[in-house]
Amino acid sequence: MPRLPTHFFALLSLYFICSHSSFATPIVQLQLKVAPATHSFSCQYTFSLPASDTTSIVRLNLNPQFALQHLTSPQAIQQRVVRRYYPYFADTMQQVEVRFPANLHKIRKLTFTYSGTLDKGLATDYVMVFSGHSNWLPFRPGQDYELVTYTLAVSAPPAYQVRSTTPAKHHHGRWTFRGTTSAIELTALVAARFQQMTSAKEPRIAVVKVEPPLLGRDTLLLQRAETIIGFYNRSLGAQDPIKRFTIFLPGTNRDAFGLLDNATVITYSDFDVAKRGELLILAHEISHKWWGYGSVHDESEWLNEAFATYSSLLYLQDSGDSTGYRAELAKRVQSATNAPAIIGFDRANAPYPLFRRVVYDKGTVILAALHTRVGTEKFYAILAKTAAGKVSTTASFIEVVAQESGPDTRQWLVTELSK
Ligand SMILES: [Zn+2]
Repeated sequence: MPRLPTHFFALLSLYFICSHSSFATPIVQLQLKVAPATHSFSCQYTFSLPASDTTSIVRLNLNPQFALQHLTSPQAIQQRVVRRYYPYFADTMQQVEVRFPANLHKIRKLTFTYSGTLDKGLATDYVMVFSGHSNWLPFRPGQDYELVTYTLAVSAPPAYQVRSTTPAKHHHGRWTFRGTTSAIELTALVAARFQQMTSAKEPRIAVVKVEPPLLGRDTLLLQRAETIIGFYNRSLGAQDPIKRFTIFLPGTNRDAFGLLDNATVITYSDFDVAKRGELLILAHEISHKWWGYGSVHDESEWLNEAFATYSSLLYLQDSGDSTGYRAELAKRVQSATNAPAIIGFDRANAPYPLFRRVVYDKGTVILAALHTRVGTEKFYAILAKTAAGKVSTTASFIEVVAQESGPDTRQWLVTELSK
């Protein structure tokens, strides 16, 4: 099974949200209406900034394939829609741009509607997948993964059900979900029927599957997820453990990705964790619950992808498969040989294979070397502190390492990341 890139990333702005009072978490209200028979949908989207936020221009990128209508913003002094190239997608997006008066100490709000059809790969005869890799949501340029507080209301025909990462309130064909997650990761799976299996004990882990029925390998998937989460909660997640988790299996055969909001979407219909490679994918994606705060637009993405990769190898080791751990690490060592430094890596201009070698493989090798250097107990303490602190920059990670392990290891790490 090809291992497609798993992009689960980061909050470029999290640091600013936390440390400057002029920025605050935006509020998103969404009313999604779906037509599963035609894979089409329409959406009313409202984006609000609290009065304390002093931003005077709001730009929101939207998938250019969607028809955008009815942009309204009561406090705006100017509003327009332009087309802008977005390097991260290597595509031109339509961009809503709204200007507000400076020093407007009121909530800034804009609303628009858009409609479209989900691509093949995001919808089948059985399911429509609105989630992190569906490119179905507007987002601020460069802040794809900024945290938003949301209400997502989904209207579906009577024969259909809707699932998300949080429990639903269901009333007359309208399913409502509330939570906080990154701007592009609000999730709604729409299907006539879901199969579900849930852990008998805490933390509550659910496998939610669209056709066909649950199989023996899905039971194994749930069991492995329980062991992986148990291990993570004792180690890297010790300060911020998983309390609930959902594994979605839509069967759309496209990719696998982790979601910040305690969930992962694995679309391969033959996914089988009896195979080591697929067990590693599961462990990698679950760990993105913690590893999702580095920016996807620069070198910081190693804080997501190398950390998730090494977490999956740690699980392998903890499960008793030391041979597997060594073999998987050796692959990364080979790939990382002569790869450029992580610090200063120009992600935007690197071809994808080089990006993988640096951000995934070299980062993993450096984490393994740090592990060897400081020992397991201290290494887990470093990971747990990094995870709980939602560390989003390499510099902040280096400081965590310095606090836990002293100046010599700090200097050693800076050298490893710079060569
Ligand atoms: Zn990943």
